[in-house]
Amino acid sequence: MIENEWLSCLPIEGIKDVKRVSGGDINEAFLIVTNTLPYFLKIHRNMKAHFFKKEAYGLKLLGKKVRTPIVYDVGQIKNDAYILMEAIESGPPNDTLCGRALAQLHTDTQSHFGLSENNYLGTLPQSNQPNKNWASFYINQRLNPLVKMAKEQGYWNQQREKLFSRFIDRFKNEDRAVMPRLLHGDLWRGNVMFTTQGEPVFIDPAVFYGDREMDLAMTMLFGGFSKTFYASYQKAFPLETGFEERVPAYQLYYLLAHLNLFGESYGGSVDRILRRCNS
Ligand code: ADP
Repeated sequence: MIENEWLSCLPIEGIKDVKRVSGGDINEAFLIVTNTLPYFLKIHRNMKAHFFKKEAYGLKLLGKKVRTPIVYDVGQIKNDAYILMEAIESGPPNDTLCGRALAQLHTDTQSHFGLSENNYLGTLPQSNQPNKNWASFYINQRLNPLVKMAKEQGYWNQQREKLFSRFIDRFKNEDRAVMPRLLHGDLWRGNVMFTTQGEPVFIDPAVFYGDREMDLAMTMLFGGFSKTFYASYQKAFPLETGFEERVPAYQLYYLLAHLNLFGESYGGSVDRILRRCNS
């Protein structure tokens, strides 16, 4: 739990109760009940505030197009970073609205891939240097840094390298026209909540402008999104021909992230997806 002295530094008054919330991968999460509004608080121990400033910026960007929690404050108390936001009261999922909302998010475009600042995918640094070429952006700022990290951690081998090089040789020559679109960036089912009215609320993003197919590929990786969700997305913003064949290439990024975060238990999945990319 949080010590009272720590809690008293938060810019809120009339705290009545603090309940731990489970479900996150990385941070400690709490629901704070007060005399007025309830608040949702995340704490990352031994971290500077910049970590949650990135999350707040991501939520603000997403908030241009879809519902996100209002962020009230980001800061540091003692050695710990925190983000304080609107507490969402959960209601029944509505995948029709969720598919439509994601399509709406993807209507936001800019002229280049990347973002005005680097950020994180979970705790993994994510480079966002502006680039007009999608293949170059995806290879150099998404895949290569995670492969380098995997090598440093001893999660790489000759066979994996061979499969990866073959895939890169093919992918770098792709000349499909891709429009830079605002992505959630870490779209697994746990990162969509629903209000009591069924309105989707997007949380915990790793935003950047990229190929919208990345968000959809991520939803398919760990499951939990229904046929209704995909039908609703397709109706609002039809996907281009060949989408299904490109899914493994984008799931690769998220599996490399898991390899780095959780170790060789994800090695087999990385190899399998690389084989699918090369088939
Ligand atoms: P982490 O950054 O550790 O992955 P999340 O942002 O995913 O943490 O939040 C952890 C859990 O807390 C979520 O799965 C969700 O159930 C709940 N949660 C997240 N944001 C809110 C919010 N604004 N209001 C209420 N509950 C929330």
